[in-house]
Amino acid sequence: MIPFFSALKSSAISLVLFFLIFILTSKFQSYWLIKVSLIEQLLYVLFGMTIVLSNYFNRSRLTLAALGFLLFYLSMSLTLPWNSWLFSHGDWLTVTGATFLAVLSVLKDRSLLSIHGFYRVLLLLVVGVTSFYWFDSSNVLITKLTENELLVPWLSYLSVELPLVLCASLLFWRMVKEKSLVITALITSFCIWVAHYYQLTVMPWSVMLTLMILHYLYVVLIDSYFLAYRDELTSLPSRRALNQLALSLGRKYTLAMLDIDHFKKFNDTYGHDIGDQVLKLVASKLAQVKGAGKVFRYGGEEFTIVFPGKNIEHAKPALEAVRQAVEDYKIVIRQAQRKTKQARAASKSKQVKTVSVTISIGVAKRSSKLNFEETLKLADQALYRAKKSGRNNVSE
Ligand code: GH3
Ligand code: MG
Ligand code: MG
Repeated sequence: MIPFFSALKSSAISLVLFFLIFILTSKFQSYWLIKVSLIEQLLYVLFGMTIVLSNYFNRSRLTLAALGFLLFYLSMSLTLPWNSWLFSHGDWLTVTGATFLAVLSVLKDRSLLSIHGFYRVLLLLVVGVTSFYWFDSSNVLITKLTENELLVPWLSYLSVELPLVLCASLLFWRMVKEKSLVITALITSFCIWVAHYYQLTVMPWSVMLTLMILHYLYVVLIDSYFLAYRDELTSLPSRRALNQLALSLGRKYTLAMLDIDHFKKFNDTYGHDIGDQVLKLVASKLAQVKGAGKVFRYGGEEFTIVFPGKNIEHAKPALEAVRQAVEDYKIVIRQAQRKTKQARAASKSKQVKTVSVTISIGVAKRSSKLNFEETLKLADQALYRAKKSGRNNVSE
């Protein structure tokens, strides 16, 4: 259960924040109502920025969602040939929009300026046509099912509410599965879309779309920050983040270089995939370092811990604790070949396989004559000594 909740944590924070802003905007209408024409003009700029940036940073599902909402907004504000048809088919519009968002949640973010872009637009057209035929066939179904008295009270929910509940379930499932902020942005759009249909909110579309699009921009920016400064495998800050921190460190700090012992042999024995799993789990242990240490993946199976404002005496107990924690850690490994039901049942009855690794640590304090790179080199030399003296220890 715990991984389930931790998967939901960042999405939940993002959702709560968004709805808080939404409720506040709705409560304090008097402040922005006079500026609504300015908001309407700004919205086009926001749409433009979001479409360009989300495509550029490969968040193409948000590009498609933004394009869809832009088309909707243009249809609302201009006299376009299809307007009268669109507004006499409000139920269809609601179900199509909701399905569009749900379908986006299962797609991959692939470049729109390729054949995939064409397929995606085609798929979304199929969504529109299918939803049109759904209304036809649901009416036929309703006529048939009215003979069953038990079902009668539910039949009025068949055409619109049933697809909406299915879409909501799909979006929720994707949020748990994908742990991506893109899904939370699709969920907020879905909620606004549905809330407007049921008249739960009275704000003008321009304001609701502004909030929606700002959320998309937020996701694109946060995601690209993580892309640049977080290591994908371990989720630790990357070497680029370390270089960034180096620029803002004061005069006093201590650095530690950490390296997993005999990891090449480990990979050769258990395979690269299990090596990756272990790397990830070791990183999660390192991330718990005490003494205000900041952990980075330096590269490969090497990590760096920075203790800003601290000396070696302060850092050493924290490093020793981390070394011990890794040594004591019995890592449960998941076998890649557990595919069939029988194999899974068999593996349950067997003892769970555990492995363990150790790490060597070299530590150095910055002295007045040294810069960051030179101090890092000192820590690396100390690491070499740790390896030489039998590994699984902390050396100065
Ligand atoms: P030592 O105790 O001297 O550090 O021995 P070692 O085998 O760990 O040292 P070496 O630096 O020669 O080997 C590092 C190995 O780490 C090479 C590579 O197989 C493995 N490695 C580096 N990055 C990754 C990674 O991202 N995933 C996996 N699975 N293995 C990695
Ligand atoms: Mg190494
Ligand atoms: Mg190593």
